[in-house]
This record gives sequence, C-alpha cells and structure tokens, in this order.
Amino acid sequence: MDYYEEFRVQPGVRPDLDVVNANFKPEDLRKKKAKSRLEELLLRMQELQNILYAENRRSMLVVLQGRDAAGKDGTIRHVFGPLNPQGVRVRSFKVPSKLEASHDFLWRCHQATPARGEIAVFNRSHYEDVLVVRVHQLVEEWVWRRRYEHINNFEKLLADSGTTILKFYLHIDREEQLQRFRDRLMIPEKNWKISDADYSERPYWDEYTEAFQDLFEKCSTEDAPWFVIPANRKWFRNLVIAEIVVQAMEKMQLSYPAPSVDLEEIRKKYHEAARVEETQRS
Ligand code: ADP
Repeated sequence: MDYYEEFRVQPGVRPDLDVVNANFKPEDLRKKKAKSRLEELLLRMQELQNILYAENRRSMLVVLQGRDAAGKDGTIRHVFGPLNPQGVRVRSFKVPSKLEASHDFLWRCHQATPARGEIAVFNRSHYEDVLVVRVHQLVEEWVWRRRYEHINNFEKLLADSGTTILKFYLHIDREEQLQRFRDRLMIPEKNWKISDADYSERPYWDEYTEAFQDLFEKCSTEDAPWFVIPANRKWFRNLVIAEIVVQAMEKMQLSYPAPSVDLEEIRKKYHEAARVEETQRS
C-alpha cells in the first residue's frame, strides 16, 4: 500500500471525518509484522536524518494535530524519539502566553520552524488558531477566516525556503476517546494526563469536526499536505506516520555534502605524519 497517497488529502478535497474509519488497517496486516516494519523504518529514518543534518541545506516540519487523547505525545515518543536529539526540535503549543498573544498568531510558530538540517515536530501548531479559537469564538469570525490564507502563505514561504512539510491529523473516534479518558482516570501512571478540559471539549465534537474538515479543504496543498491517519490502533498510527516520513525524506534525495577539504592533501600532510609520530611513540 502506498501510505503517502492513501492517506493524503488531495488539495481542495473535503474529507468527511464521520465516515473515515479510525480503526482501519489493511486486512492482512498483523501487529507483529507492523512492529518489525516500524523498526526497519526507524533505522532508515535515522540514516536519512543523519544525511539531512550533514547536508545542512534543507529541513523538515512535521505538524501533529488531533483531538484530546488522539496520541500526539505517543507519536512523538515512538516515531520521533529514536532520532538524534541534536537535529530534532519538538515544540508544544499551548494557550498563548501574554507575550505570544501580543503578536500575530504565526509569530510563535515561525520562531520554532526548523533550521537547515533540522527536523521540527509541532505538537499542536498554528492550526489551533483555526480550531480551538474558532470553536470557542476567541476572535471574531472575519479574523479566523483570513487565517487559512495566512497559513498557506506562511507554509509556502517555508517550502520555498527548503522545508518539507508534513501535517498529520490523528483520527480517533468518540468511543476510543472515551476509552482513553477512562484509562487516564484508572491507570495511576496516566492520571496526570487527565484534565477538566478533556471532558469539557467533548460536547464540541461536531464543531471540531467542521473546523478540521475546513482546514483540510483549504490548507492541504502540494507543498504542505495534510494526512488523515486512522489512529485508534496506536501501532498502525505509528507505522503509517513512519512510512510517510521516510517516503517524504527519500523523495528529498538527500546526499552527504562533498568534503570541504582536499582529503588526499590532508591524508598526506597530516595523517601520515601523525601515524609516523604514533609509531615512534610506541
Ligand atoms: P496537550 O496538548 O497535551 O493537550 P494541554 O493539556 O496543556 O496540552 O493543552 C494545551 C491547550 O492549549 C489545548 O487545549 C489547546 O487547544 C490550547 N491552545 C493551543 N493553542 C492555542 C491558541 N492559539 N489559542 C488558544 N488555545 C490554544
């Protein structure tokens, strides 16, 4: 299965989230097989990240969005955790601070975009400004309506500057969300994750659906595609995201840069001398 194409939202298309199966997995795919494939993919991702870092010309931005308990944290841990931390930045976007709120909505996001050679992962993102802000009417409608265009321009700027952008919506259904909240209540190690906000957002499920569908339709572009990932099964979610990231990195045709010095000269001038010195020393 070509995961990239299978789950990509085509530009201008409005997916109907109510009919997207959050439980989906290919019939013949078993968890065990998926896990060993994930291990392979993670190794490849590490190699590619190393080349991206060495090349130091381009970058990658991964945006993670989803409802509460959709698995954004778990995705970061399982898919991006194994990368070299030197080349990865993870940034979580919460309710804007006073300083952030005194600037335009993209200001805080632009500061967190990846530098050359880096991968940045956004846990929530500038899309909150057309999600929670819209659903709770935190600004007037004309303000958030203009933001889709601002976002597309912003992402175009990043893409033109050498950033590969991938945006993942982790799709869980209502039952799965409730089950995960229940786990947060019942399992001691998960207690810390539960908040009032989790339950108080649930009545807005349909409003969020509407807001997500709108942003997919308006902001899934060739340069910065959205992917709707079936995420009830965590192992399948991790596999699909890893497949898509690796596919996108392969497409970048990354290559190690040529050495900035004449290797032959260094070999002759320094390495031989150092070797001779070493044999005299012993
Ligand atoms: P998590 O991402 O793990 O749920 P929190 O429980 O701290 O972390 O939730 C962060 C909260 O910040 C979310 O409810 C989210 O909607 C909110 N938030 C993020 N960006 C904005 C924004 N631009 N305006 C208002 N609220 C925001």
